[in-house]
Amino acid sequence: MYGKILVPVDGSETATTGLIEAIKLAKNQGGKLRILHIVNELILDYAFGSGMYANTVIESMRSDGQKILNAAEALARQHGLEPEGVLIESIGHHRTSEGMACRPHRHGHSRAPRHPPARARQRRRDRGARRLDARAARAPAPGQEQRLLNGDATHGGTMNEALRVRIPLAVSARHVHLSRASVDALFGTGHRLTARSMLNQPGQFASRETVNLIGPKGRLETVRIVGPERERDQIELSRSDELALGIDAPLRESGDLAGTPGVTVEGPMGRIRLDRGVICSLRHLHMSPADATVLGLKDQDRVAVAVVDTGRDVTFDDIVVRVSPNYRLELHLDTDEGNAAGLSATGAFGVLKLKLKP
Ligand SMILES: [Zn+2]
Repeated sequence: MYGKILVPVDGSETATTGLIEAIKLAKNQGGKLRILHIVNELILDYAFGSGMYANTVIESMRSDGQKILNAAEALARQHGLEPEGVLIESIGHHRTSEGMACRPHRHGHSRAPRHPPARARQRRRDRGARRLDARAARAPAPGQEQRLLNGDATHGGTMNEALRVRIPLAVSARHVHLSRASVDALFGTGHRLTARSMLNQPGQFASRETVNLIGPKGRLETVRIVGPERERDQIELSRSDELALGIDAPLRESGDLAGTPGVTVEGPMGRIRLDRGVICSLRHLHMSPADATVLGLKDQDRVAVAVVDTGRDVTFDDIVVRVSPNYRLELHLDTDEGNAAGLSATGAFGVLKLKLKP
């Protein structure tokens, strides 16, 4: 009855149910199964210009799309079918009211190449499945019967439910941010912090300078200063650090210092007693506006991220989303969290699953 059966997959339960139906149909009726995954294009309706950071998400969507497709093809093969897998990128194309159909649409000057050509070629070589230009999928050829299960595969709503995105991880060891006045007091009037290494968030650096922290129960030596200087002093500790110092500091977002405890800070030129500024940093996910658009998130949203493949897989809830043009996609955990999830080193990267809380 059906010459060709077209089934879109996106890794969701609904799509998998559709795939199973399509497999049954193909077995019973002898049709040829074509499995389709579309890498979504939502980002390209927005003109945020921070192409480099936006690519983090798109790259992830591409490779995860390939995995979804591979899994669907494997399932069909288990049932004795020889499916055809098709990965379509509608990135750079606009969706039309024809549902499946994607029409190439160039925006002229706003479409600077997002990848160097060599990288793009390598990616194409790396990809196993046959890839079609979106134009090829515009309409069934005349006389071919096709059946579309699950409705519109280009629908962006599935991303909030099932999108798997690789999120770079960073474990922030204890550190301090200092005001100009505190740098003067600890290192000498007029001293400038010097960068030891740049951090992934643009403009932020780990300085060569360190301080010692002194609490009622103990000391922490050589605590790194993160520059540049800030308006206010802020000391970010893990819960274990707090216990070592004998300080009970609350979970807070950076900058939210009302009612926080203080600590004594020691530098080569003197000591200062801060009467507030110690926090246990609330875990947070930095991202650019472009990434936020792709992920359907906004500043101050809460998300959950599952750390996977570390041998100590764990899902973190209550992660605050922080969106700024100055940020790049990165989850910040403290050392306690990093250790609990099997991430040993500062700056570790991992494969994460991102999901929205209901
Ligand atoms: Zn951060």
